Amino acid sequence: MIQIEDSELTINNVNTIFESVLNHMGAYVYIKDVYGNYLYVNQLICDLFHCTPDDIIGKSDESFFTSSHLQGILDSDRRVIEKKQLVEIEESGYLISQQVLRVFKTVKAPIFGKDKQVIGLYGVSTDITALHKLKLKLENQANTDYLTKLANRRCFFYQADKAFSFSKRHGVPLSLLIADIDHFKKINDTFGHHAGDEVLKALSIFLSNNIRNEDTISRIGGEEFAFLLPGTPLDAAHLLADRLCEAVSKHLFNVGKSHINLTLSIGVTDLSNDDTKFHALFHRADDALYNAKNKGRNQVIAI
Ligand code: GH3
Ligand code: MG
Ligand code: MG
Repeated sequence: MIQIEDSELTINNVNTIFESVLNHMGAYVYIKDVYGNYLYVNQLICDLFHCTPDDIIGKSDESFFTSSHLQGILDSDRRVIEKKQLVEIEESGYLISQQVLRVFKTVKAPIFGKDKQVIGLYGVSTDITALHKLKLKLENQANTDYLTKLANRRCFFYQADKAFSFSKRHGVPLSLLIADIDHFKKINDTFGHHAGDEVLKALSIFLSNNIRNEDTISRIGGEEFAFLLPGTPLDAAHLLADRLCEAVSKHLFNVGKSHINLTLSIGVTDLSNDDTKFHALFHRADDALYNAKNKGRNQVIAI
């Protein structure tokens, strides 16, 4: 709500109203000089920084945001000044006053003086922190298996395509393991579907704890897991698969009050010069897994 002292609206009180609009428009509005020092801030910025305008004018963002998130803000300021261009960006800043991270949708543009010299910039930022958090949450949900919390099939193929391109470009090894639980149907039939779910969760934790940080594990099917091993050649991948196979077979998994053994069959392959797509590796590892099943399960086959 805006209220003025005059009884009617005339050209003379437009400036007062304009100032009020800036303070009530729900966006952070500011003017900075070419050195990044504030010359004008609206009321919302004062509220955000927990300062009066006098505390802010003449100071730069170093006084209000922590150094960890400052660079993005400074870079976009510089782009506006040096390139003499309007920029539209998503920027984040960690507020010193509130110890919280805020994400803004920002438009910044140059202010020109005589001779088309840039003499400062103005900016309008909208707080999109809540929207940003929701976006991250939805992205996370879209990439995560609901039961085991591992990366899901969609995420696996996305990561795999990236790892494939990287390995091809830099000529570094890439190996792939596909593991499938042997006779899992029997576990469901004997103990029930819920118990089967619990086993899948426990196995996921067990497998995750037995790989390196740089390796990724995904649940790509009901009782099927894929491991991407960047920088790992076939012989080392084979060793890891043997180790996982043996460790799982020796581990006792809790199912209600019972403890049960599981075994895995694992197919292994690595990137070869002829592979033009990640799917070539995937099909080879899947064939290797099929062979491991046919040869009696609880074993590793590498192709
Ligand atoms: P194999 O050794 O040939 O792999 O035998 P298997 O019994 O493991 O394979 P099959 O493909 O016949 O059965 C897989 C079973 O996995 C059937 C399905 O009900 C079960 N399954 C798939 N997803 C889930 C799940 O999310 N929870 C539970 N509890 N079971 C699942
Ligand atoms: Mg199976
Ligand atoms: Mg299967």
